[in-house]
Amino acid sequence: MRAQPKASHYINGRFVDDEQGQPLEVIYPATGEVIARLHAATGNIVELAVEAARAAQEQWARMRPAERGRILRRAAELLYRHNDEIARLETLDTGKPLQETTVADPASAAEALEFFGGAVAGYHGEYVDLGGGPFGYTRREPLGVCVGIGAWNYPIQIAGWKSAPALAMGNAMIFKPSEVTPLSALRLAEIYTEAGLPAGLFNVVQGFGDVGAALVAHPAVAKVSLTGSVPTGKKVLSLAGSHMKHATMELGGKSPIIIFDDADVENAVSGAMLGNFYSTGQVCSNGTRVFVQDGIYERFLKRLTARTSKIVIGDPLDPDTQMGPLINKAQHDKVTDYIEIGKSEGAKLHYGGAVPQLQGFENGLFVEPTIFTAVTDDMRIAREEIFGPVMSVLSFSDEVEAIERANNTEFGLAAGVFTRDLPRAHRVIGELQAGTCWINTYNLTPVELPFGGARQSGIGRENSLAALSHYSQLKSVYVETGDVDSPY
Ligand code: NDP
Repeated sequence: MRAQPKASHYINGRFVDDEQGQPLEVIYPATGEVIARLHAATGNIVELAVEAARAAQEQWARMRPAERGRILRRAAELLYRHNDEIARLETLDTGKPLQETTVADPASAAEALEFFGGAVAGYHGEYVDLGGGPFGYTRREPLGVCVGIGAWNYPIQIAGWKSAPALAMGNAMIFKPSEVTPLSALRLAEIYTEAGLPAGLFNVVQGFGDVGAALVAHPAVAKVSLTGSVPTGKKVLSLAGSHMKHATMELGGKSPIIIFDDADVENAVSGAMLGNFYSTGQVCSNGTRVFVQDGIYERFLKRLTARTSKIVIGDPLDPDTQMGPLINKAQHDKVTDYIEIGKSEGAKLHYGGAVPQLQGFENGLFVEPTIFTAVTDDMRIAREEIFGPVMSVLSFSDEVEAIERANNTEFGLAAGVFTRDLPRAHRVIGELQAGTCWINTYNLTPVELPFGGARQSGIGRENSLAALSHYSQLKSVYVETGDVDSPY
């Protein structure tokens, strides 16, 4: 299986390489095969990317927003047209099943391009009445060169979610994918060029954390948007802060799903499974603490177990497969370690927990969907982000208790509530300290709604018009129509 791109980086509208860069092997997580060999960016590559972005951005910012938007919408069309090819590439890069990547990954990037390509023409500053003659207005101006740094779980989606609002607002972007999943951002760069995006506006440079840090610290860079873990977010935010740069942080979580007695059991089970097992549990907003009220607990667990036992694990390229491997050996070790930690802490391994041996995929990084019961709030599996298919089911008796326990975390990315009692649903959502919430569903992230976290889970928002505000700065203009009132 090969997925070798023409070169490692994409700068100024073309593929470039610098073989002095640290070698970087891309591995298909289902088999362990090396599918591409790239190089991390050298200092020279970083400079080339920043220079290309800087040179292209000024003219881009002067274009009519509707014209910039037209190019993004053309790129969205190309993403839709090449959906199956890019989905396959994403499956090879991440190990996520084709069943997911075909509907979720390039499509989500395309939606972002489509949305921001249309929305930007209607996104303006404001007129401010200052009484009598003078008035004010505000301008929404681009920031300049922005850096996007991606995690490995949704590579093309993250590249699309960051580049679309950045470019729509008149910025240039340099995107550094996770070194584990470098391929699909290069494909996005080609598509932007094919859609007519001028060279230099979307550049992809590969590399490890040091390349991300070099980009963030570069004097010509105005902003960084990171999707990653909380520890990385703290490092990147403090680096950006030390240079007084704009920053958006989309970080990890340990989100709660609260299921009340009156919930529809099948829907609650669907939500909990989607919020724990999709993408083999490697989703930042996953609801990994599932609080189930006493009266529905047995029914919920019975259906959850029955339905989890039917999940098809295996070859990600088989359209019937529902769960693929984890991303790499380090993540596999981390998840299996947490399963052991859960057992040793006294939680009951209710389902799964083993590493399945699959014929033809002996080197694959698989792990069974796993359910722990008898979990208490202080256990590490209930407090720390595992980023794998490991669900903790906890029981509760009343609303006040559920809210208090759900909020008892340093994170605040997401939360969900399942109930047929709508006043209660809204009341509970109002009390939960999380940036992104769902009532009677879980993990849907339409581009029209802001997405992001509270507390340690992040700063700023992606998607919606909120993202345009994070890729722009306000200029206030006071306009005098009379004489200057001066004491001198
Ligand atoms: P990491 O935090 O390890 O890495 C994220 C990115 O930052 C990578 O590209 C990484 O490069 C880069 N990086 C690492 N150190 C630095 C540094 N000092 N300066 C600049 N860049 C740096 O996250 P993972 O890739 O392991 O992704 C998993 C995490 O991402 C989970 O915690 C998950 O919750 C979170 N996530 C959050 C989402 C959200 O929207 N809130 C969505 C998806 C994931 P390298 O790959 O070389 O380490």
